[in-house]
Amino acid sequence: MLESLQVLNPATEDVVATVPAATARDVDAAVTHASRAQAAWAAAAPADRARLLRRFAAVIDDHIEELARIEVREAGHVIGNARWEAGNARDLFDYAAGGVERLNGRQIPVPGGLNVTMLEPLGVVGVIAPWNFPMPIAAWGTAPALAAGNAVLLKPAETTPLTALRLAELALEAGLPEGLFQVLPGEGAVAGDALVEHPGVAKIVFTGSTRVGKRIMAKCADRVKRLTLELGGKSPNIVFADADVEAAALAAPGSFLDNSGQDCCARTRILVQRSVYDRFLEHLAPAVESYVVGDPADEKTQMGPLISRAQLERVRSYVPSGAGIHGSAPDGPGFWFPPTVLTDAAPTSPVAVEEVFGPVAVVLPFDDEAEAVRLANATEYGLSGSIWTRDVGRALRVSQAVRAGNLSVNSHSSVRYWTPFGGYEQSGLGRELGPDALTAFTETKNVFISTEGSSL
Ligand code: NAD
Repeated sequence: MLESLQVLNPATEDVVATVPAATARDVDAAVTHASRAQAAWAAAAPADRARLLRRFAAVIDDHIEELARIEVREAGHVIGNARWEAGNARDLFDYAAGGVERLNGRQIPVPGGLNVTMLEPLGVVGVIAPWNFPMPIAAWGTAPALAAGNAVLLKPAETTPLTALRLAELALEAGLPEGLFQVLPGEGAVAGDALVEHPGVAKIVFTGSTRVGKRIMAKCADRVKRLTLELGGKSPNIVFADADVEAAALAAPGSFLDNSGQDCCARTRILVQRSVYDRFLEHLAPAVESYVVGDPADEKTQMGPLISRAQLERVRSYVPSGAGIHGSAPDGPGFWFPPTVLTDAAPTSPVAVEEVFGPVAVVLPFDDEAEAVRLANATEYGLSGSIWTRDVGRALRVSQAVRAGNLSVNSHSSVRYWTPFGGYEQSGLGRELGPDALTAFTETKNVFISTEGSSL
């Protein structure tokens, strides 16, 4: 068991910070503290809770640049993305604040009385976050959970605890009650597991690998603990011959190279109709080869390093650097891997169906719509995907046939804080974000009140 976590700059391998690692005992104390804070928070007037969450959003807004610079140092994200991520965290708290006074139960017609439903907070919620988007994913769970009247204990990933710790300080600065939102940096198998096992934690929101998600699901089953899972992906990017092929090819690199491919929604399986396959590659190759990889703090950089040596080794185990169509990456210290596209991978090979979580995509040809759909669905995942076509009927047909939670047509953009997000199959369980985000952090209580007098 580690006593502390060493945070490395993935672009230089320099030590950025050393953070004490939370133990099971720390988690237990945090749950006690959070339970007390939650009772008072749930009893507060909705308008007061909303006002405090809005103030938290405003304080985050005042610290966007600082948070973004921390993200660049601890996660190697390019500075433009890091600013967007801090802004996304701000927007999530703002949006959730708008839901506090709108979290209504229903009145349902029944004979002989009045039937109402009440949406009650769950209590203490544990949010376990990955390292690939530390700020947005922390806020995806935390903001709606707090807005619905819960307390939150956030366990960031071992490699990226710093923005989470800063957000907890900013929450106190904004006036959120002590204990309501606490951050517990620590090892997954220690602090994460303690949250999952703790009887005082009513729900776990887990974002991470499918392997760990399954284990957490099994443990939650023991207590019938509420659970949301956001897991892995291996998303298709389907390009039909009737699409604007050049636009599709030029948009493809960003869809799997953004965040160095460490994106659960990365479109890493590019499926191209055979009649336009060569034309697509003619446009794709130079765009991949010229992708700018380097210092993430430089405004002109498009792609930074991978998060860690372990991640670099993982990516290398799927594809040796220098294979396929590829760009370049810095030598020397840091966890660098060049943008890579493989055109000769078999459709069932590991690199074509498993989540690599690096800047690597395969291109596979298909003959017709049925084959495109079959290939798109031929993984254990079902998170995201894109469909490029000018035929509206085909866009709708294929959107219905692809088994994934988040699709985009003639675009790669499908994640917005105000629309629902989540996975089919082994990509997850439940939905986050969107207009129903708060209800995932409530129990529905149904109450019937007789209008026919006492039956005694
Ligand atoms: P991971 O599963 O290794 O770790 C995720 C988190 O779980 C970390 O905080 C880790 O410390 C913790 N953890 C590990 N073992 C644990 C245990 N036994 N009990 C409790 N907690 C434990 O994943 P990762 O490598 O940090 O993140 C990458 C993965 O996350 C990828 O598979 C990616 O697709 C997925 N992801 C999914 C989404 C989504 O929304 N679907 C979004 C981002 C990332």
